[in-house]
Amino acid sequence: MRILAVTLDLDDTLWPVLPALERADQAVDDYLQRHHPAVARTWPVSAMRALRARIAAERPDLAHDFATQRQLTLQQAFTACGIEAAPVDVLWEIYFAARNRVELYPDSLPALRRINARRPLASLTNGNADLERIGIRAHFDHHVCARDAGAAKPDQRIFLAAAERLGVPPAEILHVGDDPLLDVVGARDAGLRTAWLNRRNQPWPDRLGSPPDLDLPDMTALADWLDAR
Ligand SMILES: [Mg+2]
Repeated sequence: MRILAVTLDLDDTLWPVLPALERADQAVDDYLQRHHPAVARTWPVSAMRALRARIAAERPDLAHDFATQRQLTLQQAFTACGIEAAPVDVLWEIYFAARNRVELYPDSLPALRRINARRPLASLTNGNADLERIGIRAHFDHHVCARDAGAAKPDQRIFLAAAERLGVPPAEILHVGDDPLLDVVGARDAGLRTAWLNRRNQPWPDRLGSPPDLDLPDMTALADWLDAR
């Protein structure tokens, strides 16, 4: 297969996302405990997560927009405590800063350099990782996120938006990501070639149809495969 460009998932592909999300929830909670103890008592981290899940379920129109989901959650948590003027902007900045303090897998950065030296590279994410804050923006030609595309993976539209930004036909783009459904099935249905970044060496879930074009253990293997073309 001929690969002229690469689209790359971020969370759990270049870094483990759970530690960053947990630190971010904790940073918000720390602020609430210091500045709004009544809100912190009513909405400990677990209750805040449950509230956000409820808002996500009630607002399928925001499925591609985690930022707005989270801002609504904060607003409702304060309103429930009788406070109308919630410091949503301050809390969002605290959350967003902590969420972007990610720790890259050791293979990620060297591979990004190698891949982007030879091919255009676009990030393609449902989340709200900020490449500038993380310090890896220079290795990407484009950044495509669900919020801007108006649709989240596995919806074809976000993959086609990335293809358009890259100016490369979908069949000559390799999409790389850790999630069998969101990354592999989504990209395949949009006509892209697919690489499953399978860091834990899992068997391919056959219920999702034919396996990916490539099943790779890490980013080094991806860079090696691309260099060999
Ligand atoms: Mg991912």
